[in-house]
Amino acid sequence: MSTHPSSVLEADHRELVDSFESFIRKELVPLAADLPEDADLPPAELRDYVRRRSAALGFYAGDYPEELGGSGMPFTAVVLLHHAAGRSGCPLAPYALAGSDGPSPLLRHGTEEQIERYLKPLVRGEAVRCLALTEPHAGSDAFQLTTTAVRDTATGEWVLKGRKTFVSNADRADFTLVVASAEGEPTAFVVEAGNPGLRIGQRYDGMSGEPLYELLLEDARVPDDAVIGGPDAVGSALGNGMDSLSRGRLVVAAMCDGIAEYALKQGIAYARERRAFGERIGAYQHVQEHLVTSRAEIEAAKLLTLACARLVDGGTEAPENAALAKLTSSETAVRVVDRALQVHGATGWVRGHPLEFLYRYVRSMTIIEGTSEIQKVIVARSMGLG
Ligand SMILES: Cc1cc2nc3c(=O)[nH]c(=O)nc-3n(C[C@H](O)[C@H](O)[C@H](O)COP(=O)(O)OP(=O)(O)OC[C@H]3O[C@@H](n4cnc5c(N)ncnc54)[C@H](O)[C@@H]3O)c2cc1C
Repeated sequence: MSTHPSSVLEADHRELVDSFESFIRKELVPLAADLPEDADLPPAELRDYVRRRSAALGFYAGDYPEELGGSGMPFTAVVLLHHAAGRSGCPLAPYALAGSDGPSPLLRHGTEEQIERYLKPLVRGEAVRCLALTEPHAGSDAFQLTTTAVRDTATGEWVLKGRKTFVSNADRADFTLVVASAEGEPTAFVVEAGNPGLRIGQRYDGMSGEPLYELLLEDARVPDDAVIGGPDAVGSALGNGMDSLSRGRLVVAAMCDGIAEYALKQGIAYARERRAFGERIGAYQHVQEHLVTSRAEIEAAKLLTLACARLVDGGTEAPENAALAKLTSSETAVRVVDRALQVHGATGWVRGHPLEFLYRYVRSMTIIEGTSEIQKVIVARSMGLG
């Protein structure tokens, strides 16, 4: 039984977390052992297998209701699963939980037909999607869109034109959720793979092996019912997108808390065993400083994430709560992984060491789902500033 302060909030859903950890240990760790040491990104077929298997076991998109193919878990349970995935250190574990290729909250606002055709296969882990929101000149300021959707009055279709960038999973998505300006307002469309007007442009290789893509919309024609939420939902992407951000940010926070915990564990183990100047390095206060500061920051971050998740389950989805948690946990994880690597000296810096990979992997966490600065903007606004 853990005596860590955060265990007060971790006690809920213990059985579920235990069975998820057992799945990671028994099924994913052996699969990960066969991955080449220099493969940062597991092969797509393996990620697909992990996603489908996890969905079949009820973990993948756990908080989606059973009628949509999920398990109807409370959001706190989902947060605890993300935490467990990060803490496992298993490179396949993050793919067992819905992320940027999984069910999009935008589709919760879809028509019945869109829910059937697009959302349910995503929840079951049978389909992959991508989100094309960012543009070359609209990143944090995401709704300064230059991608347009213009209605062709002759056919009733929408014609999409523009350039999207830094899109995850664009190379293997069954469909793309495109946010474009229609009648001057941000509007979300589904564009299916194979649309002759949708083309992948430049590939950007991220520092942790994940590729991102430029997506070009070259007069991509879609029917009226490709507007998410149906024809009456033109102009509603801003509202629908905003109300889904809190949960996305909290699961990133939870994954970061787990990764930080894993890194700290590595740091402690190494400090207890490695010797220098006739002593275990963990006996030196400068090394203790790295590890104790990390421990304090992780406990605080976890408590904040879990408290925010509980508030969501209680009906409070305040954007500033998710912003505080995402800011705290992602910045903490970057610092903790850095310190754990420092404690390992050259051993942690060498290619193939888990901390070397995590050092690169965790770096995107302060950028995705809104940068740290944008989280601060949200919190500042909630404080009546700015
Ligand atoms: C791994 C990864 C995956 C991604 N996947 C996707 C995806 O699937 N789909 C998609 O559409 N996009 C995706 N993105 C893009 C991501 O959403 C953007 O990178 C992010 O929104 C930031 O935009 P930007 O990179 O253009 O930075 P900018 O907005 O240009 O920001 C540059 C810097 O200025 C700061 N800044 C900006 N505005 C303010 C302000 N008001 N106050 C203070 N500081 C400010 C930022 O915090 C940042 O430090 C992904 C990015 C990464 C790294």
